[in-house]
Amino acid sequence: MSEKEKTEGQIKKEELFYSKKSAFEQLTADKIAEAKEYAEGYRDFIDKAKNEREAVVYAAELLKSKGYREYRIGDRISHGDKLYINNRNKSLFAIRVSEGDINCGTRIIASHIDSPRLDLKQHPLYESDGIAYFKTHYYGGIRKYQWATIPLALHGIVRKSDGETVNVRLGDEPGDPVLCITDLLPHLAKDQNTKPLGQAFTGEGLNLIVGTSPYFESDGKITETDDKVKLSVMVALNDKYGITESDFLSAELFAVPAQNCVDVGLDRWLLGAYGHDDRVCAYPSLTALLDSDGTDKTSIIVLADKEEVGSDGVGGMQNSMLLDLISELASNLGGNSNVIRVNSKCLSADVTVCFDPNYPEVSEKKNSAILHCGIGLAKYTGSGGKGGTNDCPAEFVAEVRKIFDDAGAVWQTAELGKVDQGGGGTVAKFIANRNIDTVDVGVPVLSMHAPFELISKLDLYSAHVAFTAFLK
Ligand code: MN
Ligand code: MN
Repeated sequence: MSEKEKTEGQIKKEELFYSKKSAFEQLTADKIAEAKEYAEGYRDFIDKAKNEREAVVYAAELLKSKGYREYRIGDRISHGDKLYINNRNKSLFAIRVSEGDINCGTRIIASHIDSPRLDLKQHPLYESDGIAYFKTHYYGGIRKYQWATIPLALHGIVRKSDGETVNVRLGDEPGDPVLCITDLLPHLAKDQNTKPLGQAFTGEGLNLIVGTSPYFESDGKITETDDKVKLSVMVALNDKYGITESDFLSAELFAVPAQNCVDVGLDRWLLGAYGHDDRVCAYPSLTALLDSDGTDKTSIIVLADKEEVGSDGVGGMQNSMLLDLISELASNLGGNSNVIRVNSKCLSADVTVCFDPNYPEVSEKKNSAILHCGIGLAKYTGSGGKGGTNDCPAEFVAEVRKIFDDAGAVWQTAELGKVDQGGGGTVAKFIANRNIDTVDVGVPVLSMHAPFELISKLDLYSAHVAFTAFLK
């Protein structure tokens, strides 16, 4: 229908109503192709960085290759510097210092690089009825039943008392053995089936099968000691990694899904992987930093640890490192850290729930992020009447909205489920509490916190475009 044929009411409606369009409808064919291409870089990142330590290594290598150099709190900072802080191999800060007045503030994008998983306990290895197991203590919000009967890989480090660090990465390469948690057969699950979903699986029941054969003496006979299978596993670990059982005391070993990132759907527009939350925001924050070179604003990219368990600790967003960094920028560049903070702006880049047509009852569709409709901007998070939310002031929401629109970034609003259905939070409040304007934005995720989460390549690309515009 041409403009002339439209009625006044139709024209008014177009002028006055908000209508959500998907990235397929908004973007040119070139941009759509670019989005598919962009996802390939992310695929490489998410397969290599299955926990915060691996993400820090990946980010540091990428930044180094682009001219960034390692910085430690206390070192000199000059205008034009490109720096990164590797904070104890657990979190990372990338800093691009502008030539301008530091008191004008910084642009910060903060995401997190830890994901829900099963951590090995400090005394993990035991044997029961001829099977050797690792005991685990789950990390973050998991639905326990999802972690049984899937292949699990083991990632992390063992720090020996002599200071040597042994890197462990087992189960992801073709031909690698994997670990596994068993479940009941349906034939014998009568009692388990009567339990509520949240109670049918216990945390102490999440034990990983790690070996099943006894230790053989050199003459080929089965050893006559107790714990024959545990011994054969410990010998294998000693052969492979040079560790003894006591080295588990100072180890960080995580069981994560052995699955690597794959395309989902015949049209290949979804990516299925472990730990999109929140590496799907961490990766575009890095590419945005590298793509927005030449801007006059000082930029800080934070890849934080411990978001999934409350953001505490040395690598968490409640740690003082961001404040320390801003105070170093102030003292080195002739600024005032209080002034820098009040003039700084932050995107808390964390995933949001994607409306799931299979479970429409938990969301209020009008205010939910929809698949392929771009990055989700959440003015507020929280639960039970916005409890614990940052609830970003409308003024800053408007500022960010304009930045995204001017850049042609595909974006939408997002809300974590319908009112009183549950809820959640992000690192936003920890940054806003330090007097820095902060709003939540992030890629919508289907099956969030499951061992295999889904995201849209278009929404991922939208994050890159939106973040790049924010830093410019
Ligand atoms: Mn998250
Ligand atoms: Mn999460």
